[in-house]
Amino acid sequence: MTNKVILVTGASRGIGRAIAKELAREGNTVIANYNKSKEKAEELQVELRQEAVDIDIFKADVSKREEVSQMVSYVLEKYGKIDVLVNNAGIDLVKMFTDVTDEDWNYVINNNLYSVFCVTQEVSKSMIKEKSGLIVNISSIFGQIGASCESIYSVSKAGIDALTKSLAKEFSLSNIRVNSIAPGLIDTEMNNDLSEEDIKNLEKEIPLKRIGRVEEIAKTVKMLIECDYITGQVISVNGGWYM
Ligand code: NAP
Repeated sequence: MTNKVILVTGASRGIGRAIAKELAREGNTVIANYNKSKEKAEELQVELRQEAVDIDIFKADVSKREEVSQMVSYVLEKYGKIDVLVNNAGIDLVKMFTDVTDEDWNYVINNNLYSVFCVTQEVSKSMIKEKSGLIVNISSIFGQIGASCESIYSVSKAGIDALTKSLAKEFSLSNIRVNSIAPGLIDTEMNNDLSEEDIKNLEKEIPLKRIGRVEEIAKTVKMLIECDYITGQVISVNGGWYM
């Protein structure tokens, strides 16, 4: 699985960081996108350099077309192609539906769904020319089953899964595969608002009785790169929380 050019969005922290690390360690050329966490992205570079592994980092807010366009141009000019795109960047909003404002709606949809539309559109033009590519979208279990007080987040993630299936059909003629990974509860800063007790209670509901690790999502991306007969799927990585 070496020598692929792979762009991972939102790779400064959490799941994206683990994906970028795993794929860079496998010998791929990885471009780790970040937005606000420059220091964390630079730390990742230093950490990997100590293992003699190279990783490129690029700042762009993926909810802004111009910044996305600059990022994709940078990657294409420097590396010539993008073999794999991982749309991972995302944010959460926990609020009662009746309190959600238009600004909240725009914030969540722009960061979670418009961003995937925008990055995928920019990258897919080059994949179509190459007649080859893989797009992996990180959605969520909540796009599948809904979540109380996270309705807009759930909408954004269900939208990603619908886009995944539509593009898997549309891009199949260009030999481009498109899949989603729908994680359950994963141990990252996104869940910092949950208390230890909240987590213990949630773990009781999960058949495997624990929350997930970022490395488990990274391994799933690796599996999707390796198995080239999988397209249009939403792969649940959730400890059996939703079957
Ligand atoms: P996290 O620890 O909060 O990290 C989020 C990452 O996304 C950060 O690297 C952040 O970069 C980046 N990001 C956010 N908005 C961005 C933007 N506009 N432009 C560029 N980068 C942006 O969250 P996580 O748990 O790793 O989540 C990663 C993905 O998995 C998200 O799509 C999330 O919805 C999904 N997910 C997470 C869980 C979970 O339980 N953790 C479950 C299901 C799905 P900066 O800090 O540099 O801005």
